[in-house]
Amino acid sequence: MGKGAGKARKKLPKELAVVRADNCTGCEACIEVCPVDCIYKVPGEDLPTVQYFVDIDLERCIGCSLCERWCPWDAIDMVPTAQIGEAVAEKGGPPSYVEKHQAELNRVADSLAELYKEQLAAKPAKASPKAAEAAATTG
Ligand code: SF4
Ligand code: SF4
Repeated sequence: MGKGAGKARKKLPKELAVVRADNCTGCEACIEVCPVDCIYKVPGEDLPTVQYFVDIDLERCIGCSLCERWCPWDAIDMVPTAQIGEAVAEKGGPPSYVEKHQAELNRVADSLAELYKEQLAAKPAKASPKAAEAAATTG
């Protein structure tokens, strides 16, 4: 987790997945469906109601939303990549995990949001085929 933060993939997805820790039971349904194996277990020793919860390596998430659809507890939200920093900052988790990792998780999320915004800004505006046709006929 967190290795190579901000390292550019070709293109970041429009949305990324965030686990709301309070709702997660650690049932593992999401781990089984994630096509890129980017969901990992976090020991939840400080949360007596659950054995553990899961978190997501956002640098590898491809935004496919399978985990969101399969989570029986509505613990996963798909969040627009530009807003991923805010969502990660408030997602919660066992206190020991938050204390140890939250700063790095925030840093990664913020850098992905920035990168996404840069990619959007750099993207040339795509003309629809109809608009291109109209432009060609109107000269
Ligand atoms: S959105 Fe897709 S890639 Fe991302 S964590 Fe969920 S299942 Fe994995
Ligand atoms: S499917 Fe939902 S409840 Fe189950 S481990 Fe994943 S996030 Fe937690």
